[in-house]
Amino acid sequence: MTPLKKYCVDGSKKIKLSDFSTTPDVSKKLKDEIVQKMEENQKQIALLQDKLYSESKESVVVVLQAMDAAGKDGTVKHVMNGLNPQGVDVYSFKVPSSEEAAHDFLWRCSKNLPSRGKIAIFNRSYYEDVLVVKVHKLYKSYKMADRCLGDDIIEKRYKQIRNFEDYVYDNSYRVIKIFLNLSKDEQKKRFLERIDLKIKNWKFSASDVKEREYWDDYQQAYEDAINATSTNDSPWYIIPADKKWYARYLVSQVLLETLQTINPKYPEMPESERKLLTQDKEKLMNEE
Ligand code: ATP
Repeated sequence: MTPLKKYCVDGSKKIKLSDFSTTPDVSKKLKDEIVQKMEENQKQIALLQDKLYSESKESVVVVLQAMDAAGKDGTVKHVMNGLNPQGVDVYSFKVPSSEEAAHDFLWRCSKNLPSRGKIAIFNRSYYEDVLVVKVHKLYKSYKMADRCLGDDIIEKRYKQIRNFEDYVYDNSYRVIKIFLNLSKDEQKKRFLERIDLKIKNWKFSASDVKEREYWDDYQQAYEDAINATSTNDSPWYIIPADKKWYARYLVSQVLLETLQTINPKYPEMPESERKLLTQDKEKLMNEE
């Protein structure tokens, strides 16, 4: 098994984001081998997903957070490749709609929690409410009671997120939180590629460059959020994201190990029902 431990933050001690590398700790020569391992992981994940779905006892929520161009969409596409679409839901959380903004910040995520046996991918999540909202102090313009809009609003939200994640864990969900840790240089390279390559133009938005100006504030906001919300039951994984092939492999490994821990099994039919099966089989065999 890959030692995921070094990427995992479980709240036992405070971390500094700058201590985490954005590049793989394996040689590029191993790329083919890693890509092959990733394909093997996909197969194992698909097998376990089938059992998870048939057993319908637990569900998994994968929270994907990252700076722009870190590869969230590609990760969803590659890691989930081969899964039964019936058992997977993907949600992208954008700037809240007027209906969403008129509710508590957890509302839109809470109502998209998957039913038992399913896997949900949250492409961005309620963490935006302690990231972009913190960086730009968006809460200042919220239409909410004054008593809710104190300077401690973000601290309170960390606590509310911890409580929410405890609540869902105790209700048979596993929450896997992934931060795709991209370097500023690599982001620049990917933005330039999105500008230069016609087929990638659609992925670029001028606001991406604007947000880049707040790079350090975002890094601090991520570090604070990770430190405030990492727990043993709902840890964060800080995944080096400068090389897509490695990031995707590691995310697949996190999902695989989580499914292995859940250890889902196909439901077994009670003996009394199995007897009925024999009768049904006989009936079918004796059909004219
Ligand atoms: P890509 O990374 O591929 O460019 P994306 O996830 O950035 O895709 P966009 O539609 O470009 O998708 O961006 C979504 C935007 O919505 C982000 O800028 C994000 O910060 C913002 N957003 C998400 N949730 C909230 C929130 N609760 N409050 C304010 N802004 C939010």
